[in-house]
Amino acid sequence: MIVSSAYGYDDMEEWYDVAIGNKPGHIYGRNTNPTVNAFEDKIKELEGAQAATSFSTGMAAVSNSIYAFIRPGDRVVSIKDSYGGTHRLFCEFLPNINVDVTLCDTGDHEELEREIARGCKIVYLETPTNPLVKITDIARISKAAKAVGALLIVDNTMATPVLQQPLELGADLSLHSATKYLGGHADALGGAVCGSKELITQIHHYREINGATLAPWDAYLLLRGMKTLNLRVLRQCESAKKMAAYLQTQKMVEAVHYPGLTSHLHHDVAARQMSDFGAMMSFALKGGMESASILLPKLQYANRAANLGAVETTYGPARTTSHVECTVEERKALGVPDGLVRLSVGIEDVEDLIADLDQAFAYLK
Ligand SMILES: *Cc1c(COP(=O)(O)O)cnc(C)c1O
Repeated sequence: MIVSSAYGYDDMEEWYDVAIGNKPGHIYGRNTNPTVNAFEDKIKELEGAQAATSFSTGMAAVSNSIYAFIRPGDRVVSIKDSYGGTHRLFCEFLPNINVDVTLCDTGDHEELEREIARGCKIVYLETPTNPLVKITDIARISKAAKAVGALLIVDNTMATPVLQQPLELGADLSLHSATKYLGGHADALGGAVCGSKELITQIHHYREINGATLAPWDAYLLLRGMKTLNLRVLRQCESAKKMAAYLQTQKMVEAVHYPGLTSHLHHDVAARQMSDFGAMMSFALKGGMESASILLPKLQYANRAANLGAVETTYGPARTTSHVECTVEERKALGVPDGLVRLSVGIEDVEDLIADLDQAFAYLK
């Protein structure tokens, strides 16, 4: 790992050539760093992209990828269920610079196609979403975006490149909060975006000036985490299927949201565009928050925290995690009841995880 903030040159001509980009090399840490480059190369390969650039956080990946292309007067079409920070960008910061944002019901493909056909600069998707794990058909929406010359950006954080390849499905850019599954150990923050050389060059240029650079130490931790990405994700998917099936049998569980269940509204789309169904789910408890307040503290193999995608199984009420910014009414309108529990399945023995839930559910009877 190389952590230098700047790189020295004895030869003035060579220094100049590197500085103006005529020769490969590093000048200053905000622009490039060898360890950060190694992370970018790795995510680029995993996403099957021509190029990739990285960021200090997932939100920096989201905002830089949008701000590099958007201008006052432009229009963005997206979904209502995007990540909380992304949602704030759409509802507050983009309207502030006179960008018109239209948010469609997530999973309503007709509405998305109708709104895209009215013309827009960017179509922004996230699939699966969090915590209701809704699915959007990337290939279908990419056709609508191409027809009006819009850029299709997909947040691939939940699926990871192990399960879903947005660029192959027609997206122009696939981005990540590397903080989640890519790192996988809840010890580093980071973000990445992958796509064509041309688009990534523009985003990288914006990021150099914006300054949201991935730190070398975090890049190192993310690289180390990514060595086991495939192992972790496949194991987590297997366990998630068993936990979803278990939760469905519980009297106190009103609904289980997981795309691997045939009862899921877009199970067929998920089966088509993902190689497995992921390790994120949510379940609604009878008795709402009162029940969640009894159940969650009784769990022994659970992290009760706001993060997800780590090796440890993590539970949290949606009202405290993904939807903490919303009022009760807003959550209701989004179909997020107070007792909705988000579950990010880790790599522990699934029999232990189910036994743990079982002993905790006993307190609800
Ligand atoms: C966490 C998350 C983000 C934001 O990432 P940070 O690293 O926390 O900035 C963006 N999109 C999704 C889907 C996320 O889960």
